[in-house]
Amino acid sequence: MVQNILIIGSGGREHAVCKAFLESDSSLNLFVLPGNAGTALIAKNILHINLNNHSEVIDFCQQQNIDLVFIGPEQPLVNGLVDDLQKNNILVFGPNKNSAQLEGSKIFMKQIAKQAQVPTAKYQQFTELQPALQYCLELNFKCVIKADGLASGKGVIIVNNEQEAKDAINSMFAGKFGLAGQKIIIEEFLTGFEVSYFVIADGSNFVSLGFVCDHKKVGENETGLNTGGMGTFSPVQKVSPQLQQQIDAQIISPTLLTLKQQNNQFCGVLFAGLMITDQGPKLLEFNVRFGDPETQVLLPRLNKQFLPLILASVYKKLANFQLILDETKKLVCVVLCAKGYPENHIKGKQINGLEKILQTPECYILHAGTALENQQIIAYGGRVLNVVATAESFAEARQKAYNLLQKINWQDGFYRQDIALKAL
Ligand code: AMP
Repeated sequence: MVQNILIIGSGGREHAVCKAFLESDSSLNLFVLPGNAGTALIAKNILHINLNNHSEVIDFCQQQNIDLVFIGPEQPLVNGLVDDLQKNNILVFGPNKNSAQLEGSKIFMKQIAKQAQVPTAKYQQFTELQPALQYCLELNFKCVIKADGLASGKGVIIVNNEQEAKDAINSMFAGKFGLAGQKIIIEEFLTGFEVSYFVIADGSNFVSLGFVCDHKKVGENETGLNTGGMGTFSPVQKVSPQLQQQIDAQIISPTLLTLKQQNNQFCGVLFAGLMITDQGPKLLEFNVRFGDPETQVLLPRLNKQFLPLILASVYKKLANFQLILDETKKLVCVVLCAKGYPENHIKGKQINGLEKILQTPECYILHAGTALENQQIIAYGGRVLNVVATAESFAEARQKAYNLLQKINWQDGFYRQDIALKAL
């Protein structure tokens, strides 16, 4: 029986994960490493452990009798934390180091996509400027330059002309993204509508959690700089059941099968960034964990099945798992950021009065970049709070979310007003 769970991460995603675990079993004992001011209300934040030192994490799990570890962000997965926990017989949800390469290396992802015949943008990989530029010319300079490794979501640059291509390639080779940009891929620019798709896999089988649209740009109407995500909505009505079947058959199943054939079974969340083009769905990227803020609009549709679902993946029992999503719920998440985000945001400002705001199971606040200092809530991250609302229609869910946002009295923050407008 699972009683003690350690959740790794500190974002709105991890707060949503804690909430979903407790909804499936309110007697669970949750620890979050390192957590935020929101997780501190429903779990115990662990602040004294260095996540990069895997033996510290293992010691903690053994001392606290941790029954299950849930890893939120990509870096510990790519660093092989799953492998090290498993070597010590600690149950953990997430892919091992090898299969986490799907996110950790864009070159690896493209190779798997090729072997699995997954539709994706045509590309080549480079380590030098001249051949890279020559390929951009072949693509008429309408192309996307990507650092091979992890770059906190910033290693993708869309270019439109020779100068932009040159600048982007040079900046990567000059170390803008550190080692992550020493190798790059250049791919054709795809057009269509973008959507994120989430499944949970157990190495052989998978269950679908559905589709999410996110809003990446900092400004209204998708203008300004890219961010980690300013808001999300789910489900995505533009994706028909037939399109989902096509995505499952052409992208998800062949990828999992190809990995399995290479003795590299994928267990965990597979998050596919997709472009739905005129020629059908194409894979833009794979992530190997839940998205933030996508998770916030996915988990409330699971109807208390979160813990059983995670355990079914860990124990490789998804073939017999009947996941029933609440199809009536429309969900919206709006991210409240610190002014200046995503460049230089204000840090260390206090947020007062959150406890006086009426929250309900249909409309509530999740914490992201917050911390508790002397019992005060302090904003230290760029994305600070999330407001999540559920209703029978997107119009109603938006209204609830924005009504609650107006009650948050925090002069140092801002949010986009147009989240989920395109779902109406
Ligand atoms: P990625 O991290 O690879 O998903 O890229 C980040 C964002 O860049 C995606 O969400 C897309 O908006 C955009 N993008 C990436 N690859 C392409 C492409 N081949 N064509 C058009 N847009 C792309």
